[in-house]
Amino acid sequence: MDKLTIDDVDLKEKRVLVRVDFNVPIENGKVTDDTRIRAALPTIQKILQSNAKLILMSHLGRPKGGPDPKYSLMPAATRLTELLGKDVEMAPDCVGSDVEAMVNARQPGQVLMLENLRFHKEEEKNDPEFAKQLAALGDMYVNDAFGSAHRAHASTEGVAKILKTAAVAGYLMKAELTALGKLLTGAQMPFVVILGGAKVSDKIQIIKNLVTRASHLLVGGGMAYTFLKAQGREIGKSLVEVEHLVTATNLMTVVAYSNPRKPVKMELPVDHVIGSNIEGTDALEHPQIDIPADKLAGDIGPQTIKNFSMILAQAKTVLWNGPMGVFEKEPFAKGTMAIAAAVAEATGRGAFTVVGGGDSVAALSKSGLTNKISHVSTGGGASLEFLGGQDLPGVEALTKAPKKT
Ligand code: AMP
Repeated sequence: MDKLTIDDVDLKEKRVLVRVDFNVPIENGKVTDDTRIRAALPTIQKILQSNAKLILMSHLGRPKGGPDPKYSLMPAATRLTELLGKDVEMAPDCVGSDVEAMVNARQPGQVLMLENLRFHKEEEKNDPEFAKQLAALGDMYVNDAFGSAHRAHASTEGVAKILKTAAVAGYLMKAELTALGKLLTGAQMPFVVILGGAKVSDKIQIIKNLVTRASHLLVGGGMAYTFLKAQGREIGKSLVEVEHLVTATNLMTVVAYSNPRKPVKMELPVDHVIGSNIEGTDALEHPQIDIPADKLAGDIGPQTIKNFSMILAQAKTVLWNGPMGVFEKEPFAKGTMAIAAAVAEATGRGAFTVVGGGDSVAALSKSGLTNKISHVSTGGGASLEFLGGQDLPGVEALTKAPKKT
């Protein structure tokens, strides 16, 4: 990683403005899943131990560009107070003279949480004046919100550009960039990429970028049926992106010619779990590739699980993004759970394994195997863009580390 991190700078007594991702689920004023808050704790603790003044900022949900108590970050501040065992004061807004006064009254070791950035529509517009107001609150900027780094917003890019000599990555950001970066440069072979989920269109870039780096591409989930249809298979009522049939054909050509001496091997489902509806009320195993006209495929079948698992058993590096079926419904969950187990087993054998994307992370958590994975990425869209070879504005804007001589 060629960016400075919080380990490279002197934080003592500085006002440290930190972009975190506290976009957490809230019900009846209480945080129902604090994973994202916990993920930011190493950075928060490091800053507090350095005797700095900590100012946290985040977005939450999609308010309509004005204050709305439903989207207040107060419940997140309360949860953080509990986790830190230390008072986290809540500001009434994220910019303005009252907030500046609160920031400037901070003592080293104290924490202030700014109110939801998206109460100002200028945040998502990356408005320079708004970014300047945010930047006035810190001597130093830390970005620990990898999940928002693919967006050029005021709090992710604008501020970093203003505080450019002191804009550094937090530990979560560093962990994400290091783990995902390892997949792009220097992944140990065999490198198996498992892709699933609903849409081919979301995964075009990642396929194109990883095709020359991976040894195997295992495709399951809804997106597999666009590929199968493009191959001329019968897919019944299964999910298909008709407008991407040509894309799928092109991608298969790219895959076939990826490396003439050692082309990446692409595997599609050879059997399925099918049913008349997406609920799986009459789901049954279907031991053939072609699917009857009145049925849809909701999961990969047992032979496909076996094929994918055998390939995973040899893997030294694994990336998994997207479930193998409609895992939210029990009758269609087996494929995803089996792949979660095979990836966890690979980790146990010493492979470097990465799982990304909201739904695969949820499936992993359902399987109870989250801590058996080398790295679970917190950023769905951001990880897809990064692995697709795109620069992330929130990362690009951080201060470059001096070149090692
Ligand atoms: P994505 O956000 O693209 O990762 O897609 C995740 C969603 O894809 C989940 O909600 C799954 O239920 C859905 N999905 C996975 N496999 C299928 C399938 N065979 N048919 C329809 N939906 C699917």
